[in-house]
Amino acid sequence: MNDVRYIYDLSEGDASMKPLLGGKGAGVAEMNKVGVPVPDAFTVTTKACVETMNNGGTWPETLAEQIAQGLARLEERTGRTLGGTTKPLLVSVRSGAVFSMPGMMDTILNLGISDESVVAVAEESGNERFAWDCYRRFIQMYGEVVEGVPSHVYEDALSALKSSRGVENDTDLTAEDLKELVATFKEISNEQLGGEWTSDPREQLNRAVNAVFKSWQNPRAEVYRRANNISASLGTAVNIMQMVFGNRGDTSATGVCFTRNPSTGEKALYGEFLVNAQGEDVVAGIRTPRPLAEMREVLPEAYDQLIDTMHRMENHYKDMQDMEFTVEDGKLFLLQTRNGKRTAAAALKVASDLVDEGIITKDEALLRIEPGQLDQLLHPAIDPSHGRQPVALGLPASPGAAVGEIVFDADTAAERGGRGEPVILVRFETTPDDIHGVIVAQGILTAHGGMTSHAAVVARGMGKPCVAGAQGIRIDPVAKTLTIGATVFHEGDTMTLDGSVGKVYGEALALIPPQINEDFQRVVQWADEVRRLGVRANADNFEDATKARELGAEGIGLCRTEHMFMAQDRLPAVRKMILADTPEQRAAALAEILPMQQTDFEGIFTAMKGLPVTVRLLDPPLHEFLPNLVEQSLLVQRLELEGGDTAELAQARQTLSQVKKLHELNPMLGTRGCRLAMLYPEIPEMQARAIIRAALAVLDREGETVGVEIMIPLVALTKELETQRAIVVAAVEEEFAAAGRSLDYTVGTMIELPRAALIADKIAEHADFFSFGTNDLTQTTIGISRDDAENGFLTNYVMEHVLERNPFESIDVEGVGQLVTEGVTKGRSTKPKLKTGVCGEHGGDPDSVEFFNSAGLDYVSCSPFRVPIARFAAAKAVL
Ligand code: PEP
Ligand code: MG
Repeated sequence: MNDVRYIYDLSEGDASMKPLLGGKGAGVAEMNKVGVPVPDAFTVTTKACVETMNNGGTWPETLAEQIAQGLARLEERTGRTLGGTTKPLLVSVRSGAVFSMPGMMDTILNLGISDESVVAVAEESGNERFAWDCYRRFIQMYGEVVEGVPSHVYEDALSALKSSRGVENDTDLTAEDLKELVATFKEISNEQLGGEWTSDPREQLNRAVNAVFKSWQNPRAEVYRRANNISASLGTAVNIMQMVFGNRGDTSATGVCFTRNPSTGEKALYGEFLVNAQGEDVVAGIRTPRPLAEMREVLPEAYDQLIDTMHRMENHYKDMQDMEFTVEDGKLFLLQTRNGKRTAAAALKVASDLVDEGIITKDEALLRIEPGQLDQLLHPAIDPSHGRQPVALGLPASPGAAVGEIVFDADTAAERGGRGEPVILVRFETTPDDIHGVIVAQGILTAHGGMTSHAAVVARGMGKPCVAGAQGIRIDPVAKTLTIGATVFHEGDTMTLDGSVGKVYGEALALIPPQINEDFQRVVQWADEVRRLGVRANADNFEDATKARELGAEGIGLCRTEHMFMAQDRLPAVRKMILADTPEQRAAALAEILPMQQTDFEGIFTAMKGLPVTVRLLDPPLHEFLPNLVEQSLLVQRLELEGGDTAELAQARQTLSQVKKLHELNPMLGTRGCRLAMLYPEIPEMQARAIIRAALAVLDREGETVGVEIMIPLVALTKELETQRAIVVAAVEEEFAAAGRSLDYTVGTMIELPRAALIADKIAEHADFFSFGTNDLTQTTIGISRDDAENGFLTNYVMEHVLERNPFESIDVEGVGQLVTEGVTKGRSTKPKLKTGVCGEHGGDPDSVEFFNSAGLDYVSCSPFRVPIARFAAAKAVL
């Protein structure tokens, strides 16, 4: 017998039970506990959902019975009966995930209204029209959400009724009209379900709970979870709560509020409300709501109580709260409170202010910040010198600026955006079904909806510029046009959005790089005080190095020298080197390249003076610097067809033969990295000389230079490193002898092949430092191509949860991570003070940073714009 508890009454929960009761369930229980007025409720646990999912959709044995008991207790506490002919109980059935997923899952309102109870609802509210309106809304919502009846079926019936009555708005329909509509709705629902329509509220409740369970797996929820790295295995709780009505007349209202401004973080009243409306009207942006401040005049008592509750809840949770409320006949009820989603700028300001207000400590403040979100601060803004007039104004729903071609549906946005094309998604209003388009769009523009509408909330969470509720724009999604006044924009036209001020421009404007403000500087300082990991940048030119330093990089962890080889003006010399027939020819070509490399290094070293710089010697296979095999073959063919034994043809043939000679079927596992340097020792020798000459030149010029760290790539065998180290050391020593002075330098290696990690104790005998190349290490450990996998099966694997995350994005702790840990441990068994870092893309991923911290690495290195993220992530890792 299964005696697991799947149901908790409102009074039995609290905030600590979030994993079991979900955010919403735990939130209302906690509010109830501290005396905030919330409607009575009970919660079906996430465990029930998970067990149902794992059991192919079949409920745990006792669940139905436990729900019935939970309902009976709720009926007893409220003195009401679900579907009763007197004092009827109406409930909402809402999803409630552990991590909030706004609007992604299903909700059913007004459950309990039925042929039996509708009369009582009318009598009790003294408003017959209201009762029948609730009933018809319920049938439609229940029909669509739970039974899968297509929405147009109801919409068509409603339109037909309105036109037969000669009215335009739903509100013009009378109680009698609505009664008729209810009858029609029931009839068509029954028809749609082949006579299986149920009117029994208890049966409806069970089905509604099941529909919410199922909605955990609907496509938009899946997409949202993937975008936010929420595990699919968590499941959702279901909250069954007594309905309170914000639509019972002019002393009723519904709204949402934040305890601080979620865009800027300012401590100011922020929220919206609607008189005589239900909650969904505000969230879905169906009617444009009024600013919260106006509620003071309309509903003064409820307003004062709300403000008081907002303060209490913020102090209680010690964080900015996002709350939903309803006023029923002047009485305030809180329906939900959660830590408010906010922009990165707001997150920093709120954290910084809460510390100043003595509510939280600096460490707590750091824990509040989502490192990945800081990306937003690094987003561009419109260059203020443009002098252009906006074509439309809307609400500044999510800050940042975006330029892109407009598209009118989420599928097109997903398709074009997925290809990396900058698009702006233009919608009348967004719904959770648009999520896949929202994720890849540069920005979002809607004609409708407020600051708390779906588009606004979702865009803000993602740091995506969004202008919502733009006035005077007309969207025709079928013709794919956007009309503003006399101007018509078509799909593909370019627009610019400024989500920080709510302006829309009908052309591409220049953007300027993001500004990092005082709050950022202050809070990141706190992060720096606590973190143990160093943070460096991957950069290979002066500009990137300068940017990286500005963003707080403490050196360069990876300078990829091949990027300098690939520059167009370098290629002729590089090709000469590759095509050389004799060591002398090669030496001559390398002599040409050396000063170019030296100049590049001088730039980087100048930007980084006083800090360590790891320069990695040439890594990719040589044929990457030559023309493509197919293209070269075609060139030869064309020249042959054109006839004549020209010098051009001879040259083309020679190049083709070189390309063929160097061509490899699997170049990633071929002659690259130190293997190439073993074949052509002149290359590492030249690079070592260029590095030392640059370091000395910068020392002379600037009075200070960098900590030179020379790194050998793709080592698998001890002998490789031993040989390469000797080549580098000999060249460096010769340079010192020639210059008549020296400087400190070290020679280390990348650990990016499993064998190197496994024999790290032996490798360490020849290395002053290790830098884990987790890109190649992931590729070679899992055996998946870093160039192809993400366009193929890997994406599928992530969608199907064969893998929870893309291992090129976030480190595979279980597998690849083991090799990192092993590499560190073994390396240090030989050299206890061996310096270790990571320079794969994972160095800027917050979850991976946490792992690298626990693995005992000394530093992470990532792209310049991710440096601030890594600094915060490194701090969070130790807290
Ligand atoms: C790596 O493999 O992780 C690495 C940093 O080197 P690259 O990406 O240049 O191969
Ligand atoms: Mg590599």
